[in-house]
Amino acid sequence: MKILVVNAGSSSLKYQFIDTDTNVVFAKGLCERIGIEGSLINHKQLLKSIGTTETAPMKNHADAMKLVVKYLTDAEYGCIADMNEIDAIGHRVVHGGAYFSESILLSDDVLAKLELCRDFAPLHTEAHLMGIKGCLEAMPEKPQVLVFDTAFHQSMAPDAYIYALPYEYYEKYGIRRYGAHGTSHRYVSAEMAKLLDKPVEETKIITCHLGNGSSITAVKGGKVMDTSMGFTPLAGVEMGTRCGDIDPAIVPYVMEKENLTPDQVNTVMNKKSGFLGVSGVSSDARDLDTAIKEGSANSERAQLAINILVHQIKKFIGSYAAVMNGVDAIVFTAGIGENNAALRELVCSNMEYLGVEFDKAANATARGVMMKISTDNSKVAVYVIPTNEELVIAKDTAAIVAAL
Ligand code: AMP
Repeated sequence: MKILVVNAGSSSLKYQFIDTDTNVVFAKGLCERIGIEGSLINHKQLLKSIGTTETAPMKNHADAMKLVVKYLTDAEYGCIADMNEIDAIGHRVVHGGAYFSESILLSDDVLAKLELCRDFAPLHTEAHLMGIKGCLEAMPEKPQVLVFDTAFHQSMAPDAYIYALPYEYYEKYGIRRYGAHGTSHRYVSAEMAKLLDKPVEETKIITCHLGNGSSITAVKGGKVMDTSMGFTPLAGVEMGTRCGDIDPAIVPYVMEKENLTPDQVNTVMNKKSGFLGVSGVSSDARDLDTAIKEGSANSERAQLAINILVHQIKKFIGSYAAVMNGVDAIVFTAGIGENNAALRELVCSNMEYLGVEFDKAANATARGVMMKISTDNSKVAVYVIPTNEELVIAKDTAAIVAAL
């Protein structure tokens, strides 16, 4: 099947056009500044390795979708003869609350439940609704499937997802752990399980999705047992600009000392913390590495920002091995996990207690490709596995549409 995968943001829309029979990506692109002056589309035809950028008015997501279809069917930059060759559309959805534990075909009922998810991720949900409604307007007859970042984590038991707050907050407001990056954790854990010489039901895998946003997940028998992100994607390990887990009492303390409103303290924790806040250099791990190498003014704090993340990842790995009663494999993925060999080495050093025998030489060469970075004798396999959320979305969409 040929599936159009859509990732709608509030003023942007990323897309990939994927053949799920061959896993080949025919085309991909990005519409930017939707609804704003100067909107533009950047489209790449990957079979011919050509691309183009056009400034074109897009007053809403429906206009953006019409432009995407125009480029997919374009004589020079296109990859299909006409719109009939698009079998279905698969949407990435950031938050499905507790309503969605798997991917689902769009219907009025599904749309109504998605509206309720605004409470958990207001900006993202609003953007997804615009993307879905844009597709309904531009291609009303195409089936649409929603694939949720939270769905994979819905298999957690209450011990892992209930916070030790008054229980009525869970009942009244749905305050619980939901997790994030579920589509990525699902993909890399499934790829890892295939490499292990045992039935999936017996596998114990820890997946480390380390990018601008980061989360770590314990996957036992193919199901999530625990994950580091929580009610929101602010929880867990240190990130580019997010603080991760902190003592909750710090929040009212800082609000009082700095005279901050709830919105302002939220901004500090989401946008001014993490790598950026600790180092004073940047939110990007590459900039921290450069600062450390050059020994610039903030190099010590840049190193501290990296060391904090390493320390926290080690703690999550240790605790997840504890709750799973062991671990067969550890996987690194996303921007930092796939590309930052130095950080992977720091994380996996001194982990002999767990049965990790790290292969430094293999690790040094592993960059953006699937690779084993533990020795053949290692009791715990350690791998770099590039994530592919778009492929999961396309495959789920094709499977649901094929069964109609
Ligand atoms: P992501 O959110 O998955 O795009 O990851 C972004 C993070 O990954 C940033 O901190 C980048 O510094 C890091 N990253 C992305 N690509 C590379 C690369 N080629 N080499 C080193 N770090 C990278």
